[in-house]
Amino acid sequence: MDDAAVDRTGAPDPLVEGEDSERARAVAAGLLRHARRVVLTSHERTDADGAGSALGLALALKAAGIDARCAFPSPLPENLRFLPGAAEAAVVPAGSEVPEALRGADCVVSLDAGSADRLGGLRPLGEGAAVFLNVDHHASNDGFGTHRWVDSSYAATGAMAFELLCELGSPLTRDACLCFYTALVFDTGGFAFSNTDPRTHRMAAACLERGVRPQEVTKELHRRRSAASWRLAAEAVEALRTSEDGAIAWIALPRASIERHGVPEGAMPDLVEIPVSLAATRIAAVLTELPAGEGVRVSLRSRCPLGVHAIAARHGGGGHARAAGMTLKGTLAEAERAVVDEAKAALAGWAATHRGALPPQDA
Ligand code: AMP
Ligand code: MN
Ligand code: MN
Repeated sequence: MDDAAVDRTGAPDPLVEGEDSERARAVAAGLLRHARRVVLTSHERTDADGAGSALGLALALKAAGIDARCAFPSPLPENLRFLPGAAEAAVVPAGSEVPEALRGADCVVSLDAGSADRLGGLRPLGEGAAVFLNVDHHASNDGFGTHRWVDSSYAATGAMAFELLCELGSPLTRDACLCFYTALVFDTGGFAFSNTDPRTHRMAAACLERGVRPQEVTKELHRRRSAASWRLAAEAVEALRTSEDGAIAWIALPRASIERHGVPEGAMPDLVEIPVSLAATRIAAVLTELPAGEGVRVSLRSRCPLGVHAIAARHGGGGHARAAGMTLKGTLAEAERAVVDEAKAALAGWAATHRGALPPQDA
């Protein structure tokens, strides 16, 4: 278990690829096989990739006779409650006690989280466990945990969980495939983003062969909208702004809009496709004002070689080159200025080395 490729606590770059990644996966599977009590978790504001990978892997471990439970730092949004095992998963928000039933785990698996502080109330459980296994695909992963398998070439952590299950020799049941397929659909934007590759489609095909029906996932993920959430989206369209050359497009959404329409946290529409979709966009952002004192949540997207994870990392956030996020302190207007200024600086940096040109759009 002392493989240098997978256990480099304190090393600056936890990312592995190729053979190192395969070795890290084998070590991860070995740790799971020999665990007695496993808790699987993911990042706060848990999404379909985090929930799908944890729930799908838990099914496989349980089938192998291992005591495996899922626990998340945030309640799963309504549209993920259809995932098998979602109803039994514990919720442990930041600052709350770890429930008795979860204590004593000898192995805690974090899926789809780039840093331990994203695990909210489950962080202490992970840090106290003999094995704290970090399985993730974020380029910004900081390498936390006693062991890790971090490979940003995977489109979704759900794809890594799928491979772990195969490595464990567990049967690919329909229920596990439903979890992994949902994770894949979510993180690839329905197989439309640049992270979609042959491996993603091969896994999706394997899931369909085992009985997953794409339309059931579409129905649960995308066809549960309320009219109120569309009215909020209409306000967001009204608030759409662009830089003069159109290369930066963004929406700043005041708290009052969200409250006026009464849209709950877990049912917030994904607005970032609106600025992303404009013809000239290179960098897109959605800024959402949080309840009093909590600051502003920022979603960043890039359609060009300039990675937005660098902007997010400077503000304590993280993510991927093409999709990143962070929470800023201060007012909505201050956050808007900061984000637009940083995006402008990134574009100016490109222009300075490319005869004043805008970066090419490759997505
Ligand atoms: P979002 O814009 O919320 O869809 O997030 C885009 C990507 O950035 C996802 O992969 C998130 O996991 C990541 N991300 C979002 N917010 C944060 C944050 N505060 N810290 C680290 N990563 C984040
Ligand atoms: Mn995620
Ligand atoms: Mn993910």
